[in-house]
This record gives sequence, structure tokens and C-alpha cells, in this order.
Amino acid sequence: MGTRWPTNVSKCWGYDPLPGVTYVEGVKTVKIAPQPKLIKCPICGSHRVSFKGGKNRVFMTCNARQNGIVNLELFVPIVKCNKCGLARQINVRIADPKRHYTRSLARVIKKRLKTRSVIKVADSLGLTKRNIDDIRKYFRKKE
Ligand SMILES: [Zn+2]
Repeated sequence: MGTRWPTNVSKCWGYDPLPGVTYVEGVKTVKIAPQPKLIKCPICGSHRVSFKGGKNRVFMTCNARQNGIVNLELFVPIVKCNKCGLARQINVRIADPKRHYTRSLARVIKKRLKTRSVIKVADSLGLTKRNIDDIRKYFRKKE
């Protein structure tokens, strides 16, 4: 708490930004941390968990103006549930498992692809055609 979301970065439900903004290969990168309500067992939902390490992950998302990309860097904790005994990563919510982009970015791309070409959608977000193709493949699998 207390830290404000940096300018032009959309708030993520359930997360707080950590202080400071870095640039990784020219892309604004904001570290975020899950709020206590997200620290729970992904299987049974119990909040009675203990921490068992975790993993740093980076997700691409679009900025607040939806005309560029911001990276969100998140340490995803592994929690051991005192109720069901399992140790798992918390449910990240902002992205699907194993994806390196947020659900909100996927929605923006999907919507734009209805009326624009891949190249135009890529340009509108400062992404490459390859980025868009990768994300598109996943839409097709889901449908
Ligand atoms: Zn559990």
C-alpha cells in the first residue's frame, strides 16, 4: 500500500505496485506484488498457507492509453496449504497459466484484430508481427 501506480500504467486488480520503474530493453517495467487476498491455496481457497519460495515472472500488458506495452514483473509465491497439504503457485489471475502476456492485453489484441490487419495491430501497440501471431495462436486453441 502507499505506492501509487506509475503514470500511464493501468491498475491491476489484486496487486500493488512496488516503488520504482525500470526499463528493460526500452520497455517500462513495473514490479508488482499480490495483495493478501490473493495469497491463498489455488486448490481449496484456504488462506492458511506458508511460503515455499516462488518464481519471478514477467508479463507484457498494454499501457493505460492502450498504445504501448508495459512489463509487469511479479514474484509468484509458492504456498503450502495447511488445510489440503499441497504446495502450489498462487493463482496469478491477470494471466493464463504459462502465458507471458496479460488477459487484458489479449483482449485488446483480439478486439483490434476484428477490424485491422496483424501488422496494424502490432504497430498500434509497439509490438512485432511475431508477438501478435504468438498470441493469436493461443486464441485459436482456446476457441
Ligand atoms: Zn488447500
